[in-house]
Amino acid sequence: GRGIDVLLPCSVASRRAIPMDQRTVLTIEDNEYNRKIVRKLLGTSYRLIEAVDGEAGVALAFAEVPDLILMDVQLPKMSGLEATRILRADARTKHIPIVIITSFALSGDRERAADTGAAGYLAKPYSPGELLALVRKFLPE
Ligand code: MN
Repeated sequence: GRGIDVLLPCSVASRRAIPMDQRTVLTIEDNEYNRKIVRKLLGTSYRLIEAVDGEAGVALAFAEVPDLILMDVQLPKMSGLEATRILRADARTKHIPIVIITSFALSGDRERAADTGAAGYLAKPYSPGELLALVRKFLPE
């Protein structure tokens, strides 16, 4: 769909050896309904961890070093764009692909997401197939 995009080439070769159900996806999202959708779509295939604000998301990423991060933009305490910049600038987390998920597709968020070094971009509302396709680009089966 037109709301899905890969902003940067993804480096996945080193991850192929990890069994799919042991790979960790961090969802940083303040909306419970949106977190539930991600759980429903990805919960049987990946280990999921969640944070509900930007600061907690950054802390959890440093602690857990997930294989992929799904990052909402509008978050309490710290925006998803700022959290992405911090994670991209830190040696512990700069290799982790980050997918920016935004409700504001028409307001220039795609360009701002690219500027942060995010690996992918997805506009809400997205279809199940769009999220799964994007996740599989970074964590192939
Ligand atoms: Mn939000």
